[in-house]
Amino acid sequence: MAYDLTEDQKMIVDAVREFVEREVIPVADGMEHADEYPEKIVEQMKEMGLFGMMVPEEYGGLGMPLVTYALTMIELSRGWMSLAGVLNTHTMATWLIKTFGTDEQKQRFLPQMVTGNPRAALLMSEPQAGSDVQRIKTRAVRDGDDYVINGQKMWATNGLRSGVAMTLTKTADTDPPYKGMSMFIVEKEPGAQKSGGVIVGKNIEKLGYKGVETTEIAFDDHRLPAANLLGGEEGQGFVQNMAAIEVGRVNVAARALGVAQRAFEEAIRYAQERQTFGKPIAQHQAIQFKLADMATKIEAARQLMLNAAVMKDRGQRTDLEAGMAKLYSAEMCMEVCTEALRIHGGYGYSKEYTVERLFRDAPFFLIGEGTSEIQKIVIAKSLLDKYKI
Ligand SMILES: Cc1cc2nc3c(=O)[nH]c(=O)nc-3n(C[C@H](O)[C@H](O)[C@H](O)COP(=O)(O)OP(=O)(O)OC[C@H]3O[C@@H](n4cnc5c(N)ncnc54)[C@H](O)[C@@H]3O)c2cc1C
Repeated sequence: MAYDLTEDQKMIVDAVREFVEREVIPVADGMEHADEYPEKIVEQMKEMGLFGMMVPEEYGGLGMPLVTYALTMIELSRGWMSLAGVLNTHTMATWLIKTFGTDEQKQRFLPQMVTGNPRAALLMSEPQAGSDVQRIKTRAVRDGDDYVINGQKMWATNGLRSGVAMTLTKTADTDPPYKGMSMFIVEKEPGAQKSGGVIVGKNIEKLGYKGVETTEIAFDDHRLPAANLLGGEEGQGFVQNMAAIEVGRVNVAARALGVAQRAFEEAIRYAQERQTFGKPIAQHQAIQFKLADMATKIEAARQLMLNAAVMKDRGQRTDLEAGMAKLYSAEMCMEVCTEALRIHGGYGYSKEYTVERLFRDAPFFLIGEGTSEIQKIVIAKSLLDKYKI
């Protein structure tokens, strides 16, 4: 890897890799098939400090840059990408509070959140609005020292078990709509179907990405103090949300890398074990070409992801780089998982083999934190700005 890690960074990434080998890989397939929440593993992740990785040390976090976080996400996802899902919305929430919160909000929320108690969700999508964020309808209305929220959120990863839900709302009707959006730090009872006016709906049954819950969440006259408006100023929500999504895109790129890396490892091992026509299939050139393409694409994705992470850590604008990293890594992961499945022949289609799970997890990356089509729109817009004549 061209990027040099400090001793501290290396120690964390190595510790997560070792943890994944020891605690995650032996149980991941079974838990995924049973759609079981990884309670014990999450407790261990808390003990390792992973829920406060990017939170400054003054609030009890590890104070790590995005690049270190991303490298640990590769390791976790190499074991089971649902673990990275438990962490991802939480990290985006702590990043939002650290970056945009008032001093009071940072003092109040971050020291608890670094422990993983409570954990956090991020509520942006709605039944009628995913890519088109400006079409959200959830509304927060000021009432004295409070706000009252009404609306419906969709696809809430960690929707049930979270105690904090960063919630994007409309606080004014403006043209363009994004200027009238505000983000709230909504507190709720972890695990409760109803707390105040926050109602957690059913767990959505998914193709993959199992174990971690994805729910609907409704707001029915939910009242919360104005002190929970992120940054204390209305109209900033869209910009805050999009900045967090850039972090999320690096994050998703890293998760896709972890899944692809594992698919490659499974494939290159199987290719040396399976014999056809008198030799291991790894000795057939057609299989060698697949392996060569897979490894090359994984490496290219890693460089794009690291570049975007390092730029974000430097405080540079990264919509172009994070978009490219996310687009390429997601498409690469789908391709690599498909090839890994094909290398396994019929066994790739069996639940007995890990590639079956990886193949079902991979499509999530084409959708979460903005679909591939949306990444291309972001990339093209950025390029047209950059090369404007
Ligand atoms: C498992 C899972 C977990 C999720 N977790 C969360 C979460 O924690 N929090 C959260 O807020 N959201 C979450 N999401 C929602 C996710 O962010 C959205 O699904 C995603 O942004 C796409 O939105 P959509 O599903 O409404 O699709 P749509 O926006 O309806 O898009 C449908 C199709 O049209 C294409 N399309 C849309 N607009 C254009 C355009 N202008 N040009 C070309 N093509 C276009 C899209 O690429 C896609 O192929 C999650 C989704 C999934 C599947």
